[in-house]
Amino acid sequence: MADADTQREAVRAAAENVADRLEDEKEYLTDLDSAIGDADHGANMSRGFRAAADAEADADDAEPSDLVKQVGTTLISEVGGASGPLYGGSIMSASQTFAEDGITAETSVDFAEAYLDKVKDRGDARIGAKTMVDALTPAVHTYKKSIEQDDLPPLEALGKAVDAAERGVEFTVPIRAEKGRASYLGWRSVGHQDPGATSTLYIMEELLATAEEYLEGDVERDATAVEQPDEDPSDVAEDGAADDDEGGE
Ligand code: ADP
Ligand code: MG
Repeated sequence: MADADTQREAVRAAAENVADRLEDEKEYLTDLDSAIGDADHGANMSRGFRAAADAEADADDAEPSDLVKQVGTTLISEVGGASGPLYGGSIMSASQTFAEDGITAETSVDFAEAYLDKVKDRGDARIGAKTMVDALTPAVHTYKKSIEQDDLPPLEALGKAVDAAERGVEFTVPIRAEKGRASYLGWRSVGHQDPGATSTLYIMEELLATAEEYLEGDVERDATAVEQPDEDPSDVAEDGAADDDEGGE
C-alpha cells in the first residue's frame, strides 16, 4: 500500500467503518448470543470497536503498526469475556507484522496468519468447534493462497477471503459448540449461528470496503450471502438470496 500517511488514514477509516458496522449489527449479534450464550456479544463488540476508533482518531503520527496495536490494546481494556482477549490480544500481537515494512500485500498475509494463530492459541479451538475460528480459518487460508499462489491483487484476494468467511459462518449453524459458553448447551447449540464467527465476517466485510476505497477498486462477491433473518435468529434461513452489497453501480 501507499505511503505511511495513507496507511494511517486507511487504518483509521477501517476502525471507524468497523465500529459503525458493529453498532448497526449490535442487536443482531446480541440475538445470536442470547440463543447460545449470554447476550452480550453485540454490546461487547460495538463498545470495544467504538472505543478503538476513538483512540485511533486521537493518535496523530503513530506508525501504522502502532495504530493497529492500539486497536488491540483498546479492545482488551474495554471488552471482557472471551472476545476481549481473543480479538484484542490477537490483533495486538499480530500488529508486529506491520512494524518493519508497514502494510503491504505480503505483510497483510503475515498479519492474517499471525492473527489466526493467536486466536487458536488463546482460545484452543480447532475448526469445527463452532467459534470465530470457523470463519477465520478458511478466510486466512484463502487470502494467503490467493496472494502467494494465484498471484491475485490484494483486493481480489480479500474479496475471496470474505466469501470464504461467509461460508465459514454458515458452517457454524449445523454444528455443536465445543468451546466458550455455547458449549455448555451441548447438542442444543446445534442450529444456531455462532456470534463470534458472524462478527468476524462483519469486520472482514468492512476491511474489504475500506480497502476498496483506498486501493480504488471494486470487488465482486459471491452471491451466496448469509441472509440475516429480521426477527428470530433461531430460525436462520438457508435460502438467503440477494445480499445488499452496493454492487451494480
Ligand atoms: P463471552 O462468551 O465471554 O460472553 P462474547 O459473547 O463476546 O464473549 O463472545 C462469544 C464468541 O467468542 C463466540 O461466539 C465464539 O465465536 C468466541 N469464542 C468463545 N470461546 C472461544 C474460544 N475458546 N476460541 C475461539 N473463539 C471463542
Ligand atoms: Mg457472550
